[in-house]
Amino acid sequence: MNSSGKLESHYSIPFIVDPINFEARREWKIELNAIRSFAAGVFSEICSSFVICHEVGHIACGHIEGLKHFEGPGSLAEMASMSGFKKKSKSNTERRQVWEYDADAVACQLLSNYVSELIDDVKVNKRTAELFGSEENIPETVLALTIVALFAFFSYMRGVRYKLHFNSDHPHPIVRACYIRNMLYTATKERWNINSDILMILVDQWLDDLRDSLEHIDFLDDSAFGEDHMSLIDTHHDRLKSLRKVHGKSCDQWTWISWS
Ligand SMILES: [Zn+2]
Repeated sequence: MNSSGKLESHYSIPFIVDPINFEARREWKIELNAIRSFAAGVFSEICSSFVICHEVGHIACGHIEGLKHFEGPGSLAEMASMSGFKKKSKSNTERRQVWEYDADAVACQLLSNYVSELIDDVKVNKRTAELFGSEENIPETVLALTIVALFAFFSYMRGVRYKLHFNSDHPHPIVRACYIRNMLYTATKERWNINSDILMILVDQWLDDLRDSLEHIDFLDDSAFGEDHMSLIDTHHDRLKSLRKVHGKSCDQWTWISWS
């Protein structure tokens, strides 16, 4: 995206380097031209909308009542993976992992409305068209960039202390991005004709670019995945699906929704 031209955003902010440590801040200069500033606004809105929809998912799925029932007073740690804190039992950890997966599924269903509005907006808004392109593969482009923006957000929230472990409530950002790709695709294709092959190519290409950039600033360490990382992503995803068979009905008495 072109970075030349008059600056529309020109300021400094104290950036929180690690969400686990709010004290460690770095002064970041934000200098963006009009289209980059617009893009930053769209992608940050996608991520904040996803967070809100995810929390709505926890409420609608009955996880708040479930948490009190199964674990007593406590809270779901959304904003960072604090694996060094209070240890949970294996069963509680696995149940929470299923809850996060289900809250993500609800979030994707709700966020698909936002994605659809962006696709519509390409036809009437010059800046949206400049951001996503207006010639071809528009639904696939909007969807792919949404997924990649969420991956960047998950990677940041995971924190610079990233480790591949099984005792976090949230899966590795790349695992989450891959199943969210499938969930968002399923929800959005109800309204738009989406070519899944093109979507896969775009997501893979932009995820690769972004992973390089995130590794460069130490926000992501893919070394734990090694060369087998695609099969490890599948292993993690399969594990979540099998845990869902065990814990998927744990909050049935409190949920507002039913899964088809
Ligand atoms: Zn959650």
